[in-house]
Amino acid sequence: MIIILRADATDEQIEHVLERIERLGLTAHLSRGTYRTVIGIIGDEAKIAVAPLQAIPAVAQVVPVLPPFKLASAEAHPKPSIIEVGHVKFGGGYVGMIAGPCAVESREQMDAIGSAIRDGGANILRGGAFKPRTSPYSFQGLGEDGLKILRDTGNKYGMPVVTEIIDPRHIDLIHEYVDMFQIGARNMQNFVLLTEVGRTTKPILLKRGMSATVKDLLMSAEYILSQGNPNVILCERGIKGFDPETRNLFDVAAVPAVKAISHLPIIVDPSHATGRLDLIPCCALAGVAAGSDGVHLEVHHCPEEALSDGQQSLRPEQYAQLAGQIRDLVTLFDKKISPVGEASQ
Ligand code: PEP
Ligand code: MN
Repeated sequence: MIIILRADATDEQIEHVLERIERLGLTAHLSRGTYRTVIGIIGDEAKIAVAPLQAIPAVAQVVPVLPPFKLASAEAHPKPSIIEVGHVKFGGGYVGMIAGPCAVESREQMDAIGSAIRDGGANILRGGAFKPRTSPYSFQGLGEDGLKILRDTGNKYGMPVVTEIIDPRHIDLIHEYVDMFQIGARNMQNFVLLTEVGRTTKPILLKRGMSATVKDLLMSAEYILSQGNPNVILCERGIKGFDPETRNLFDVAAVPAVKAISHLPIIVDPSHATGRLDLIPCCALAGVAAGSDGVHLEVHHCPEEALSDGQQSLRPEQYAQLAGQIRDLVTLFDKKISPVGEASQ
C-alpha cells in the first residue's frame, strides 16, 4: 500500500501517520520528494484498511498495491483455473456449453429441449425451478417438482444440470438435485446467499449484476471463495444501458478485462444480455472470440408457449446451427469442448 501525503503535511502529521502504521506491526518507508511525501507500507495489507487512513487530514490518497479480491486475483493464482461441473470443464482452454429453457415447465418440455440441445452440442442443461420475476404475478417456477424434472432430464441425456438459487433456505433442497448453483444478476450482491453457497463445494455460476462493475463481480466471487468454495464461474449477462434497443448492454470487453486480473473462468450469456434472437448468435460468437470460457443460451422447443423469456429463446435448430459455429471458433482458438456424458438413467 502507498500513502501519498498532502503537499502541506507537517512533520508532526507525517510522524502521526508513521506511528499508526508501525503500531499495526507493518514497516513504513518514508520518501520525501520535492513536491510530495510518500509512504510505502511493507507487510500484510489485510491488517490495514484504506478508509481510516484516508480520514487522516495529512493524507491525500491511499493506493492499495494488491486488489481487494485476493483469492480471485491473478496474483493469487497465476494460471487460469479449470472448474469442473460433473465431467464438463470450464476455463484453461475448455469452453462449456450451457443451454436450456429459462424455466422448467413440465417433464415433456424438458425432455424435448434436453434431447434437442444434447444433439445440438450442449453439455450442460439449465432450467429455473425458482424464478426471480420482476412481477409477483408472473410464473414463479415449479419449485421442487421442477428440480426433479431437471435432474431426471440431465441424467437421461448425460448432462450435468444448473439451476438458480434465490433463497439461502433452499440450499439443502437444491443441493440434492443439481451439479451447479446459479446466482442470478439480481442476487449478485446478496451477501448472505453468497456466503451460504460458499460453504458448499458445488460449483457456482455467478452472474454479473445489472449495475455491477467488473470489480464488484470479483468482490462477490471473493465472498464465495473466502468461505472455502473455489469453484466459481463468472458470467457476463449484460448491464443496464440507456438504449432500449437491447434488453441489456452486452459488455463483451468484460471477458478479457476479467481475465487480465483474475484466474476464474468467465462465460457469456447473450440471451439475457441482448434479449433479441437476431443478435444472440453474433454476440455469442463475439464472446467466444473475446476469450469466453463458455456460452450460456436459452433454448425452447416452442418459444411462443414459453412461460418466461420466450422472446429470447432459440429454437433447437437455431441452437444447433449456432453451436456448430461456436465449435468451429473454439477449434480455431485451439480450445476444447468437453463431450456430453453417458446417460445414467
Ligand atoms: C436466468 O438465467 O434465467 C436469469 C434470470 O438470468 P439473470 O439473473 O442473468 O437475469
Ligand atoms: Mn431467463
